[in-house]
Amino acid sequence: MYRIGGIEAGGTKFVCVVANEANRILAETVVPTTSPQETIAACVAFFRAQGGVEALGLASFGPLILDPASAGYGTVGRTPKAGWTGADLVGGFGAALGVPVVLDTDVNGAGLAEARLGAGVGLDVMAYLTVGTGIGGGLIIGGRPVHGLSHPEMGHVKVHRHALDGDFPGVCPFHGDCLEGMAAGPSVMKRLGHPLSEAAPDHPIWSILGDYIGQFCATLTLVASPQRIVLGGGVMGNAALFPVVRAACAAALADYVPIPRLSATATDYIVPPGLGDRAGAIGALLLAESALA
Ligand code: ZN
Repeated sequence: MYRIGGIEAGGTKFVCVVANEANRILAETVVPTTSPQETIAACVAFFRAQGGVEALGLASFGPLILDPASAGYGTVGRTPKAGWTGADLVGGFGAALGVPVVLDTDVNGAGLAEARLGAGVGLDVMAYLTVGTGIGGGLIIGGRPVHGLSHPEMGHVKVHRHALDGDFPGVCPFHGDCLEGMAAGPSVMKRLGHPLSEAAPDHPIWSILGDYIGQFCATLTLVASPQRIVLGGGVMGNAALFPVVRAACAAALADYVPIPRLSATATDYIVPPGLGDRAGAIGALLLAESALA
């Protein structure tokens, strides 16, 4: 009998959960993301009030320094989120709680949860992409998120400009018109002044966004050959985007890869998450579990 803790650490809130070894969630709270000191202290207070945990998993916004050989291991990299660059997540939580802390990106955490318990169960190679305030992705191979140098940064791949997108410069502070700059939620706000959900069904923004995301799904298919691509995040919560993305992916592949599930009409390749918006918190618990394994 043990208790583990998980945190889905986002730019606006930290969702903290405590679960038992059967992955049953025993307690949960939401801490607003303010300064690192204040936010970490509030999370620690919650876990202590629950009687403590034996390991903690963190699925966090990034970028993160995940190379164990780096002096900055376990910290937040250069982020536009004020005050968070250099925040020591592994050190801060580890010192306060005195337990092993396993850190990964929010998308790797969510991807891990989808691969083990959601839309990717039984698959060897699965990709998870979130399209929301930002765009990020994880590749789960053999039940583990791919790391390597650090972690993938799929949202910042270049895309071909859509013919109806004029000279929109994109909103990525680093690259302008990368995938995130052209297709994340803030790009829609900048073009239209309102979110995608308020756009008329025949507005060109649907085909513009779907095209960019579909282009990237084709790239992912060609690079990693995943058996399924799971698309989550607030923007993909607009279900009408899925058929557009599937068609754009198929168009970009142009029948080059002769596999039926890659056709524009197949619905079992590019799919919504199986765990809904719980994937991040569940993934954090799976990370904690890995520390005890
Ligand atoms: Zn970028």
